[in-house]
Amino acid sequence: MNQTMSKTRVAILGLGLMGSGMAKRLLSEKFPVVVYNRSRAKSEALAVDGATVADSPREAAAMVQVVISMVADDAASRAVWLGENGALPGAASGTLLVESSTLTTGWVRELATAAARQNCDFLDAPVTGSKPHAASGELRFLVGGSAEALEAARPVLAALGRDIVHLGPTGSGTTMKLVNNFLCGVQAASFAEAMALVEASGLDREDAVKILCNGAPGSPLIKAIWTRAAIGDLTPNFVLRLMAKDLKYSLEEAKRFGLTLKAAIPAIEVFEDAVKHGYGDQDFAAVIEAQRQR
Ligand code: NAP
Repeated sequence: MNQTMSKTRVAILGLGLMGSGMAKRLLSEKFPVVVYNRSRAKSEALAVDGATVADSPREAAAMVQVVISMVADDAASRAVWLGENGALPGAASGTLLVESSTLTTGWVRELATAAARQNCDFLDAPVTGSKPHAASGELRFLVGGSAEALEAARPVLAALGRDIVHLGPTGSGTTMKLVNNFLCGVQAASFAEAMALVEASGLDREDAVKILCNGAPGSPLIKAIWTRAAIGDLTPNFVLRLMAKDLKYSLEEAKRFGLTLKAAIPAIEVFEDAVKHGYGDQDFAAVIEAQRQR
């Protein structure tokens, strides 16, 4: 990385499981980083690592050349960009705005239009990979927006990810992410139900898991959630309630094209049921335990 790149000033809005790892990663790569988080304690933790703490998204955006948002959902994204003291009014003309949260394409397009009015370039760049990948710079960015904006963002995204895929115009990255998480959510929900059936039928759990995980159904995702569930480690990498959100957003996305993602409907029910029974803030692998308790 050359000196000019290392001097790009970057703001990270949202210091949850993903945003905090991304901010630390940029700091370790010598980027000057400004952080904002709704609850300030998470920002203070980053100050110890050298981040500048902003009091509002607006203040953060005014200090940097690239703003990256990594927050929970559409409502959170709207709040950090356009809410009171939001980032957009604070961003100088020419600031590059990157939305990396998993959101609806409807909101992403609205945001892109607002960014253009402010003479700012905008990318939707949601990610695959989870908490450890955010911390180690091994995310995969799924990017929608102009090639020029992506080239401007590339030095920063390259510090955070091992792969950057340009899917097309604004919204394309978000559509791809929702397709991705539709498949992940349906797999996880069906595996949770399969394991509940294994137990109810009296089959041996270990035998069943060996057959399922070493056979055709044993996708990397199924293997990963079983590994965590089996040892009871449900400290979140990706909180369960956000998987319910992603499935709902994927259903909404498909409706734009006159499609119904029929498999998403019962999967949403499985995840919402788990949220209702208190598993929403655990890792989404807890969906297995939630089904077991039914
Ligand atoms: P998280 O740990 O739950 O963090 C959520 C962040 O959003 C926190 O900074 C939270 O602030 C902020 N937030 C929530 N509601 C807000 C509001 N109304 N106004 C302002 N800020 C608000 O989530 P995460 O795992 O980092 O995920 C962030 C995004 O990346 C989500 O869209 C998620 O779907 C996506 N994603 C996650 C993963 C993963 O494995 N974790 C992987 C790929 C994509 P507070 O701290 O104040 O609550």
